[in-house]
Amino acid sequence: MKRVVEWFYPDPARPLTQVWLASLWMGLVANWPLWKRLLWLPELGDTRGLVFIIAFAGMVVAATGAVLSLFAWPRLVKAVLALLIAVSAALAYFIDSYGIVFDPTMVVNMLQTDVRETRDLLNLRLLFTVLVLGIAPAIWIVVQPRAPAQRFVLRTAGNLASFTIGLIILVVLAMVVFADLSSTMRNHKALRYMITPLNAVYSVSTVAVRSRAAPSGPPQQLGADARLLARQPGTKPPLLLLVVGETARSMNFSLNGYARQTNPELTKLPVISFSDVTSCGTATAASLPCMFSHLGRSAFVDLKGSQENLLDVLQRAGLAVLWLDNQSGCKGLCDRVPNSRTSQLPKGAEPLPTTLCGKDEFGNPECFDEALLHELDKRVAELDTARLKKGLVLVMHQMGSHGPAYYKRAPSDLKLFKPECQSNALQQCKRAEVVNAYDNTIATTDRLLARSIGWLQTQADRFEPGMLYISDHGESLGENGLYLHGLPYAMAPREQTQVPMILWVPSDGVLARSLKPGCLGSLRDKPASHDNLFHTVMGWVGATADVYRPAQDLLAACR
Ligand SMILES: [Zn+2]
Repeated sequence: MKRVVEWFYPDPARPLTQVWLASLWMGLVANWPLWKRLLWLPELGDTRGLVFIIAFAGMVVAATGAVLSLFAWPRLVKAVLALLIAVSAALAYFIDSYGIVFDPTMVVNMLQTDVRETRDLLNLRLLFTVLVLGIAPAIWIVVQPRAPAQRFVLRTAGNLASFTIGLIILVVLAMVVFADLSSTMRNHKALRYMITPLNAVYSVSTVAVRSRAAPSGPPQQLGADARLLARQPGTKPPLLLLVVGETARSMNFSLNGYARQTNPELTKLPVISFSDVTSCGTATAASLPCMFSHLGRSAFVDLKGSQENLLDVLQRAGLAVLWLDNQSGCKGLCDRVPNSRTSQLPKGAEPLPTTLCGKDEFGNPECFDEALLHELDKRVAELDTARLKKGLVLVMHQMGSHGPAYYKRAPSDLKLFKPECQSNALQQCKRAEVVNAYDNTIATTDRLLARSIGWLQTQADRFEPGMLYISDHGESLGENGLYLHGLPYAMAPREQTQVPMILWVPSDGVLARSLKPGCLGSLRDKPASHDNLFHTVMGWVGATADVYRPAQDLLAACR
């Protein structure tokens, strides 16, 4: 027996032995969310299903072992295995808790996430999972004595043989259960992104290859011929407040038929709430650049390299543009236009009241969205006067309903729905408490928009004001065990892709009078999407360029 053990696990262990032990651990243990999901599938509930699941587990271990065999070099193997084991443990926690999957888009989201957003995800259960499933086995691998050096040729041959054996096991098992494998993978596309750690290896390398393939240098110019159409004599320049929402889903707005009163303020105002609006992506990093592009979703996903966006074209046409951020930044969209953050005050401004802004435990400012309205007049006054005479597009980027710590987004006087989930480990709360906390964030956005309209009305002697609010993507709140957002678009539920869009113009203003009577209201149930944003804003503020498409401008049909 001892000799058998020593053959498998000699002291010091061969790199390949470590590779296969680590593959067994990650494949079987760190993939528990995958096994759980498969065991729950009704079509796999019989003996045949169980045989498939066991074979699939064998395939995952074989594929992991095959890939890792290529890294089985004495100086390299421990670092690679320790890293992947730790990553697998963290992924297991997020996949199990929130029903997320790990695909290339998720990598891009992570790269663009700031410290504050990351901190909102950390909790004791995550720490415990990573310690037990990740750090402990990783330490065990690291403290093993290093195997003696081996001749390069022998090592290479050994690794390739191990790689080939893994592949053969994978192929044979796949052939044995082929019918179940192909139907399960076809019907449940998200499963492939749940296979840890291969999902991480695949997604990170895909993003790395893509970023190297992307042409570098300044973004491609857009709308070189951008200009403003002549205004009717005697009319004031346009002021469009574009509120970019965060993680707000359409169905939780009472304006869109939600049974709870989440829009007590906007309900009193003459707003148009579009009932059928689709987002471009299911995460901020995917949606924001796409929303501000003229291309529309289908062309934007194929775009190579970077391109200027709506804000550049508006500025080129001669308008004043300002991006004001209360979140993790504008993802490069506002790089070439005036931009600021809620915590950066304009000259001579009153300090932010403590009811609006506090500090997090690291001393970083953290503000409720209503801080976006603080001293807004002074922010506008700092913009170019000549441009302001032609018009202003002011973008406010909300923190909105950013999860999972929804309870942090609503001030105490807007906790309309109680009790709230007070944890960022959503699955530890009752679903109703998660929904309560989320609905309070919608009520917070409701009041922000109502107060924004109030501010716009104070600008009516200088400008022709209007507001357009649209969210970047939706959110899952436990439907089918899913939480948060970011599922690959093709498999995302409508909770993640149906977003609110709300429009306000003064009913007696020039803009309203320039539209056919009743036409605006008739747009309410017309299907719309992020594809319409670029062109609708261009038309709204009277800007045009070769890239403007009236057919995509929601208001063009009403003029
Ligand atoms: Zn977002």
